[in-house]
Amino acid sequence: MDDLQKNEEGHSINELDSRGIVSSLKSVSVLYVEDDEGIRDQLSRFLKRRVGTLYIATNGQEGLESWRLNQPDVVVTDIMMPVMDGLKMAEAIKQENPTVPIIVTTAFNETEFFLKAIDLGIEKYVIKPVKTEQLLVAIQKSAWGARAELEMQLASKVFESSSDAIVITDQKNIIIAVNSAFCQITGFAENEAIGQTPSILKSGRHDQAFYQEMWRSIEKDGNWSGEVWNRRKNGEIYAEWLTLNTVRNYQNEITHYVAIFADITERKQAEEHVHHLAHYDVLTDLPNRTLLQDRLSQALIKAHRHASKAAVMFIDLDRFKVINDTLGHGIGDLLLQEVADRLSNCIREGDTVSRLGGDEFVILLPELGTPDDAYTVAQKLLNSVSQPFMLKGHELHISASVGVSFYPDDGESVETLMKNADIAMYRAKEIGRNNCQFYHADMNSRSFERLAMETSIRRAIECAQFELYFQPRIAMSSRKIIGMEALIRWHHPDLGLVSPAQFIPLAEETGLILPLGEWVLRAAATQGQAWLAAGLEPLHIAVNVSARQFRQVDFVGKVEQILKETGFSPDYLELELTESTLMTHAEENINVLNKFKAMGIRIAIDDFGTGYSSLAYLKRLPVDILKIDRSFISDITEDRDDAAIAEAIISMAQSMSLRVVAEGVETLEQLDFLETRKCDEVQGFYYSPAVPAEQFARLVAEMGKGIGHS
Ligand code: C2E
Ligand code: MG
Ligand code: MG
Repeated sequence: MDDLQKNEEGHSINELDSRGIVSSLKSVSVLYVEDDEGIRDQLSRFLKRRVGTLYIATNGQEGLESWRLNQPDVVVTDIMMPVMDGLKMAEAIKQENPTVPIIVTTAFNETEFFLKAIDLGIEKYVIKPVKTEQLLVAIQKSAWGARAELEMQLASKVFESSSDAIVITDQKNIIIAVNSAFCQITGFAENEAIGQTPSILKSGRHDQAFYQEMWRSIEKDGNWSGEVWNRRKNGEIYAEWLTLNTVRNYQNEITHYVAIFADITERKQAEEHVHHLAHYDVLTDLPNRTLLQDRLSQALIKAHRHASKAAVMFIDLDRFKVINDTLGHGIGDLLLQEVADRLSNCIREGDTVSRLGGDEFVILLPELGTPDDAYTVAQKLLNSVSQPFMLKGHELHISASVGVSFYPDDGESVETLMKNADIAMYRAKEIGRNNCQFYHADMNSRSFERLAMETSIRRAIECAQFELYFQPRIAMSSRKIIGMEALIRWHHPDLGLVSPAQFIPLAEETGLILPLGEWVLRAAATQGQAWLAAGLEPLHIAVNVSARQFRQVDFVGKVEQILKETGFSPDYLELELTESTLMTHAEENINVLNKFKAMGIRIAIDDFGTGYSSLAYLKRLPVDILKIDRSFISDITEDRDDAAIAEAIISMAQSMSLRVVAEGVETLEQLDFLETRKCDEVQGFYYSPAVPAEQFARLVAEMGKGIGHS
């Protein structure tokens, strides 16, 4: 009682408080059961101020009812009481909830009593007379014990039922506990994981530096979180979002690590799928333009830093459109896939093959020793693409044209390098496809020139900027004009008179020669007919026919139709074909030429001597005239070789009963030489250049009687 009094005055309460007991009791509810009114009053007054809630009962029966009603954290009870004693009450409570802490205050001090109490599950006693401090400590310990147990139960529920994997390791990072989500995600059973370190999950996808940074952060901040690629027991790699925390003791030493992670593989896969679609071509699975540009700009940064070279290679399949149009898109797609595979096999690791779309591919060679390396790659891929493709029973043969630009020589930006490789590729197409061209600066101006020329040729046909000039052909024997060659002239609005040598080759390449050639034929026939109508003596008109024109479908029909339209007689039309045109596909040409012959049209071989004519064929070709190329005539009087060639051509023609015309005769000496060699006709500036139709008519009138030698 003294003791209680003393506490009431507050002496030792301070001591208690300094140990944190008083404040911690503020959240605890207590049921106090005591029949002795005096003790009950004093002790309840004391407890009321120190515990959270205090319930009071005067005997065991009341106590049991109050417990049922209020569910206090701790029960403090006397033993000897009327109606129901303390042990009976304790027995009843423990039956309903064995974890409720019960503290008995007792004057008994006998073994038999304690054994009974222990049997009931009562572990705490305060011997009467009650020392208040001792009682408070007992209440606190009991309350904490019960709460800790509850928390433990809660924690283990959370641990087990969490859908995130949880791993607890000790300070040496040895696994001491894992939950079932861990087992599910990783495939390791609890007993396989415990005793190991988390490195059993390592995938090898992260380097040493990654883990070092992770541990540095854990030690410094106490936690780390991020994405980690790990490996399941079955070897499968998966992605997890990992949070790592440390547990420290009161001396602030790490005692445990807690790792919590979720399997985010599906989310990552979805992300990757979207990323893939945005960066790869669906048909070939090659990087697309976006990814190529990305890699190219990375490569340029690197090349700049190391002062090294990089190459961009444009590849375009030749005549892919024809395959697509004739065999269908299905075969076209298969072909592109196969080409993609072959190209990929021509490069080294680190190089990129990409598809821009259609039949356009680009290869990036980011680290290049010398330009020769690019050349080697180009040759390899040209060779690979030209091997036959077997697709659904079709054997296909294709080729490719390749253009290359180099960093930094041909450009320093992604755009310039791509553009210049493209220009070089077009150059490769121009010069006959199935080859590789390196970009150089004048290609640029050439391609502009070309484009400008092409559009203006189209316009020139529409706007009638072309005119035919005529150059007379003179018979050696009579010195009379016996025919003429029609030569095209272009009155360009800005450039003035443009020579055919400048635009005929381009018109050939682009196919514009077809409408142009048709125009020439019609214009020549129309003019010839007009002269006849004007009363001029009929003369042969020779018209130049280009290879492409000659090979067009039903060229014979076209000529026939023009003659019909204009009324010009085929007997006065002569077609000039170059030696090389006639010698390629010579066998087929014989047929076409025979048709012209049958119509009465004469055939001349133009620029003779410049090609490599097969004399065997020459014999079989139904031609009428050989025109010795100007290059042999110009030096005929000085160069003995040229003289010998001219002489040989003349005598050969005579032996084959062909007429011989010498082109480009400019001087009297040349004329004399040709006369003694018995050349049949001459054409050249000595008599007249090509002139407009009107002027030609005057020329015929002047020279009508023939021009004498002197
Ligand atoms: P080509 O058929 O060999 O025509 C002869 C060329 O030599 C003409 O040049 C003519 O003006 C030139 N020439 C004639 N005599 C002399 C001479 O004494 N000295 C010199 N230096 N040159 C002489 P042009 O008119 O410039 O035509 C060049 C080429 O363009 C022609 O060579 C022909 O291959 C082609 N061409 C001209 N017109 C046509 C055409 O209507 N259709 C086609 N497909 N090609 C044409
Ligand atoms: Mg000619
Ligand atoms: Mg010629």
